[in-house]
Amino acid sequence: MKISPEKMTEIIGLLNKNWKGQKICPICGNNNWNVSENIAEIREYNKGSFIVSGSVYPTVIITCNICGYTLNFNAIKLGILKTDTQEKIALKFNVYPHILHVIYVDIH
Ligand SMILES: [Zn+2]
Repeated sequence: MKISPEKMTEIIGLLNKNWKGQKICPICGNNNWNVSENIAEIREYNKGSFIVSGSVYPTVIITCNICGYTLNFNAIKLGILKTDTQEKIALKFNVYPHILHVIYVDIH
């Protein structure tokens, strides 16, 4: 999911607010970071099999431009994705609510 320019500004503001001290890469010692232009997702592990209704963790990826070291921030905890009720999503996708663990809606 592509991050809008407004949300990108919000993300950078939140990172600057929450990231205390110098923003130095722990691997190479530089301060040269990039915020990915898309929200990625980390999926529940199931021994190599894909679970359609498994847990999904939407993630904002921050990468060191020098060495590639990567930080992942949960987009919901960061506050740039809004959660919705399990029931609404379950109705939309015709699945039972109890199998949905992490839910998110589009950002605009
Ligand atoms: Zn680095």
